[in-house]
Amino acid sequence: MAHQTDTIVKHSLQALLEDSSFLPSLQHQDRERAFTSLATILTTPNHIHKSYLRVARDDASVVRIPAFRIQHNDTLGPYKGGIRFHETVNEEEVLNLATLMTLKNALHEVPFGGGKGGVAIHPRQFSDRELNKICKKYVQYFNDVLGPDKDIPAPDVGTGEREMDWMMSEYKSINPGKPYLGSFTGKSVMSGGSLGRREATGKGVYFTLRYMLHDFLQDQTNWLSDSDNPFARTALAHAGKPLRMAVQGFGNVGSVAALEAYQCKHLQNKLVAVSDRNVTLYNDDGLDVPALAAFARKHGELPTKEEHLTEAGVKAELLSHEEVLYLQVDVLILAALEDQIRQDNVEKVKARIIVEGANAPVSGEADTWLNDQGVIVIPDILANAGGVIVSYFEWLQGRDTRFLSEPEVFNLLYDKMTSTMKAILPFYFGNPASLRENCYVLAVRKLCTKLYLQGKLY
Ligand code: NAD
Repeated sequence: MAHQTDTIVKHSLQALLEDSSFLPSLQHQDRERAFTSLATILTTPNHIHKSYLRVARDDASVVRIPAFRIQHNDTLGPYKGGIRFHETVNEEEVLNLATLMTLKNALHEVPFGGGKGGVAIHPRQFSDRELNKICKKYVQYFNDVLGPDKDIPAPDVGTGEREMDWMMSEYKSINPGKPYLGSFTGKSVMSGGSLGRREATGKGVYFTLRYMLHDFLQDQTNWLSDSDNPFARTALAHAGKPLRMAVQGFGNVGSVAALEAYQCKHLQNKLVAVSDRNVTLYNDDGLDVPALAAFARKHGELPTKEEHLTEAGVKAELLSHEEVLYLQVDVLILAALEDQIRQDNVEKVKARIIVEGANAPVSGEADTWLNDQGVIVIPDILANAGGVIVSYFEWLQGRDTRFLSEPEVFNLLYDKMTSTMKAILPFYFGNPASLRENCYVLAVRKLCTKLYLQGKLY
């Protein structure tokens, strides 16, 4: 997978080891030993659970499907992370995503550890009835290690509210009399889900961009304008100016982020392109994003033909799906899959600001190249945490059985993301490291401090 999180964790530990103001009571050999322990703890998962789900298909044939639940680290609280249904799911990918969850929760001070699940199926090749069985089997096989105070899954690629409702219901049946509302998040509102959970990731993704270019820069322009930091120069070159924007991926995350950008009163955005697995739609004068969102809600994808565009009431050129990456835009939001910008195509990317709505859409090599060019990359760990933050609110609401209104949820989400951005942006614009490295150092710093205080480094 694109960012080998372990490598960045090790770099972050090295930076902290050399920072004498961090854990100053640890000196000399004790310091070396403690940091070696930290590297061991943070780069090894606590548990890897793997099973082959035995499922009878509709034609009565029996299949065995590889399924994983990986619990990376629970220093900050119960394990938390999505369950992915995708044909390429494998142990390494799930482990990497579980590690990313530990760091994401630490960065945003969400009191959960990191976990992730996966089932190696192509969901479209299974009937609804079969998917329902797979969800139930997943809970049956992993029941002992799941639960509101142990490990709380959520949706990921290929799963959504429906699957979470099914899984929570199975958990409730297997564990009668036990609390169950907090066993899964991302449920439908009718089943105890949170208002705003569906939009949370996309809204959070756009919020990080808006906060950086508007709220933060408004206060900080004085000292930043004297800075020779390359990222400060990029940010200032775009603040208060009209922004041409493109969004790759028009599913849950991408469509919401695109709508937020379209409706934003703080930045002067023009959405010139959106894309999905089939097509890029381009209009130099700007696209009618609400009309496209309505079309995609109805048909499950963007218009791919002239008659679809007429039906949607949208004027656009139809380009191939990968062209979205290479357009002359200021901002590119990546909200589809991992590994979209790589060493072999990064030099064709013209955007000066990239926001990672998806997990790991920019490979490690491409990330280094972009940073060297002064391109701002707002990384996944920072940008796409809205889902897990509102999952945390859902979990709290499930405990209290007291539910928040949608504006309350979004205000709490923005408060949490603001406090993370406030902690991180002054460092980012003050040193030459990438925003990703800055985020990792802060997340690792929080985890290390807690491990040290709890006496786990002996
Ligand atoms: P989704 O399935 O709703 O949407 C994915 C979109 O990407 C679809 O429009 C699809 O057509 C498009 N797509 C697929 N292949 C493409 C390609 N090659 N080129 C262009 N577009 C392509 O998924 P989602 O929930 O929006 O998740 C998107 C990404 O965000 C994933 O990487 C996921 O892990 C990450 N993410 C999602 C959440 C969440 O709450 N949904 C939270 C954190 C991270």
